[in-house]
Amino acid sequence: MNFAARLDKVETSAIRELFKLLGKPGIISFAGGFPDSAMFDVEGLREASRLALAEQPGAALQYGATEGYDPLRAELAAFLRAKGVERIDPSGLIVTTGSQQALDLLGKTLVDPGDKVIVEGPTFLATIQCFRLYGAEVISAPIDGEGVRVDRLEELIVQHRPKFIYLIPTFGNPSGALLGLERRRRVLELAVRHQVLVVEDDPYGDLYFDAAPPPSLLALSESVPGSRDWIAYCGSLSKVLSPGLRVGWLAAPSELLARATMCKQFSDAHTSTFAQATAAQYLKAGRMPATLAHVREIYGQRARTMGEALRRELGDAIAFTQPQGGLFFWARLTGAGGKLADASELARRAIGEGVAFVPGAPFFATEPDTSALRLSFATAGLEQIEEGVKRLARALA
Ligand code: PMP
Repeated sequence: MNFAARLDKVETSAIRELFKLLGKPGIISFAGGFPDSAMFDVEGLREASRLALAEQPGAALQYGATEGYDPLRAELAAFLRAKGVERIDPSGLIVTTGSQQALDLLGKTLVDPGDKVIVEGPTFLATIQCFRLYGAEVISAPIDGEGVRVDRLEELIVQHRPKFIYLIPTFGNPSGALLGLERRRRVLELAVRHQVLVVEDDPYGDLYFDAAPPPSLLALSESVPGSRDWIAYCGSLSKVLSPGLRVGWLAAPSELLARATMCKQFSDAHTSTFAQATAAQYLKAGRMPATLAHVREIYGQRARTMGEALRRELGDAIAFTQPQGGLFFWARLTGAGGKLADASELARRAIGEGVAFVPGAPFFATEPDTSALRLSFATAGLEQIEEGVKRLARALA
């Protein structure tokens, strides 16, 4: 078959190969990016889907508007207002089939072959691949424990004149990092100064364990003059409610939103009306605060357990910042005591010991750090986390 040349720019991820091994019996997995299915609010979603069919059967089962189902858009706008985005109304966002589709629409709408896009190093792998598929040259800006280094970001903007910048400021995947308030302000000032669009991907912002994170760039843009026109925000119900619903959204300046809507029309016409009506009923019923409190508590316990176990079992052979939210530890093998510093080799040995994780190198668009690894604490229970970290220590010994 003669495939499109654009496919030469992407490859199936190395991570997929690893996932094939996860079916082995007895493996403890720190590898997935999935939320824990045991935490889905099945009862609440059953009731929401029942109401969707009882109250709006026509709308829930019929074709719908590409922009999304209006009652859901209204609920999502209210959800954002509750998180400090004061100037948002339902027409300021469209519903997408997961936030993954919002990213794809941004790629489709904005990227010409050869355009440059700046992302964090490391960042969400599917985004790198998606932007590359549209021909982007993807450039990495380094991060530290406080998220992207804004000084380096500005240098890269000046050097490369990117089409846009893609950031996961709150509990990034894979970094778990939280961009501080001051840096958030500076990112918005950069956007205005250099007239460059910033794409904020925020599927994890509600998953904080103790204190709430600083406001999203979208919320903060209301107090940084001129910056609101340079923010596109991708949200998702996947990590807090259910990824299978495939409900995400894109809030962006109106001209960009109109073009993204046009592209969506040719792609999937609209996001499942049944899923949208169910999500709308769920939000309307006011169940979200309790759901969020529950997932925050469970993931917070798992994160604390993993952090303590890593410090106890691996000591100075591993370096990491304790995540304050999200689903991931991002760590580096230090090589201390002559121990292994290559995360891919450790991943192979770890499978032999019965524990899986994802090496960090594929998450870098450029200059991979081969000592980095991502450990998810989302799906393993507390005992499994303790046991898995012990196995990891054996693999490293
Ligand atoms: N962005 C990031 C940073 C993610 O980690 C994910 C899911 N792993 C997505 C977007 C896509 O999520 P969804 O399409 O389910 O909303």
